Amino acid sequence: MKEELIRLLALYEVDGQIDELRSRKETIPQRIKELENEKVSVRKNLEEFIQSIKHMELLSKRKELDLASAEETLQKHEAQLPTLKSNEEYRAMIKQIEMDKERISELEDELIEILDKLENMQKHKPEMEKEVELKIEQIDKEIVKLREELSGIDDKIKLLISERERRAYFVPKKLLKRYEQLRKLGKKDAVVPIVDNACSGCGATIPIQTVNEIMQSGTVGICENCGRLIYWPERKTEG
Ligand SMILES: [Zn+2]
Repeated sequence: MKEELIRLLALYEVDGQIDELRSRKETIPQRIKELENEKVSVRKNLEEFIQSIKHMELLSKRKELDLASAEETLQKHEAQLPTLKSNEEYRAMIKQIEMDKERISELEDELIEILDKLENMQKHKPEMEKEVELKIEQIDKEIVKLREELSGIDDKIKLLISERERRAYFVPKKLLKRYEQLRKLGKKDAVVPIVDNACSGCGATIPIQTVNEIMQSGTVGICENCGRLIYWPERKTEG
């Protein structure tokens, strides 16, 4: 690799780091917002659960009252039974008493069902509260971490920018100009390797002659399709 390519790649590397930090800086506040929303929804779930327990308690009380009043009615009817004069009245009352008993049995079943549900919910409540507490703690920790990262990013970017200035200084003017133009046009990946005889920026095939030239000279070429700077990646030799 020629010196100019090495220097260009050094600049490209630090620009990549700056880009990453800048995009991180943009995404962190969004992430914090998402986490805050998550906290709200976790709390809301718990509140709704507690609310439904209260509702169930109310329902059970109402059912108990209904049951008490049905039992009272039954007692009243049973007490009336010996006082009735005619057979007809007696039979009617017996029928009524049977209906009262059925009603009581229905109410008892309903009450048992409600109490079962209620007991289950109450048993589940501490566990759910603990879960929510842990979840919120975990979210808060993540938010603190993100805020710390965010507050340090500007300093990091500043440092990298001065490093980029230093590196840009060592890149030949003409090459630097083209590189800067590409980046201004939004092609952040302005310097790309040739992979399988194609520009790895846009995928266009590079004429074999151009590939050979770039490979032999060890410097930078230009993709005729997208204008990116292209180079032949040297294989890293190990050890
Ligand atoms: Zn290209």
